[in-house]
Amino acid sequence: MTGAHRPVAVVTGGSRGIGRAVVTRLAADGFDVAFCYRSRKDAADEVVAEAGAAGASVLAYEADVGSADQARAFVAAAEKELGPPSVLVTCAGIVRDRPLARMADTEWDDVIRTNLYGTYHACRAAALPLMRHGRGSIVTLSSVAAAHGSPTQSNYAASKAGIVGFTASLARELARSGVRANVVAPGLITTDVTDDMPPAARESIVRRIPLRRPGTPDEVADLVAFLVSDRARYITGQVIGIDGGLVL
Ligand code: NDP
Repeated sequence: MTGAHRPVAVVTGGSRGIGRAVVTRLAADGFDVAFCYRSRKDAADEVVAEAGAAGASVLAYEADVGSADQARAFVAAAEKELGPPSVLVTCAGIVRDRPLARMADTEWDDVIRTNLYGTYHACRAAALPLMRHGRGSIVTLSSVAAAHGSPTQSNYAASKAGIVGFTASLARELARSGVRANVVAPGLITTDVTDDMPPAARESIVRRIPLRRPGTPDEVADLVAFLVSDRARYITGQVIGIDGGLVL
């Protein structure tokens, strides 16, 4: 497989859930894709096979986005292996839910480091390559919790709200270089994260969703694919919800 004429996308957290769906969707749309994952090599190998079957060159890279050095090494490896990226999608994220009064500092720190610093590290590492490319798109993953809060998720909501302001600033800063930046804010999407929720908590959220079901990773990937495409060329600095109407 040669990626010579295919555009290159870089995705954080591509081994499972939403990131995995984004990798396979972008590969099907004609991108070569580099993605990083934290530790699940088994899952990453599956994604390489799946996305590779679509004819893409795919690089799976183990890197903790909470580390600036590892994020930088990941983006550098992507550029070296596949070529200069025109797309960055930051999906890597974790939860460590706990009522505030009982939250451990490590639970706060881990979530802020992975979700907010991780987004910052990946965007900073990719900014120059994207600007040099002169045309491109960043999509960051936030959450409905950013604007509306969520009990036991003050750490998570803070990290996701930070991503919104961060991405708006990127949109303003990078526009003159031809780079757009938008936020996707999902509601309840069926992944390993939601599978780990107590069933009663999950059901009580589903009851509040006007469309009466959780979303799927593929539905989020459809939105991401649109945002990075030329069809969204006049869209930047936006927060696009994908939640079945949960926040109405
Ligand atoms: P999953 O837990 O299914 O997948 C998380 C992915 O991120 C995995 O690929 C994991 O790698 C990777 N990852 C985790 N920590 C790191 C790290 N420090 N460095 C690099 N990669 C890391 O998550 P989801 O698909 O559910 O969520 C994806 C994004 O969407 C997250 O930002 C999440 O906050 C957001 N979101 C999800 C919602 C949902 O309902 N699912 C709702 C709203 C927002 P590995 O496989 O190696 O562990």
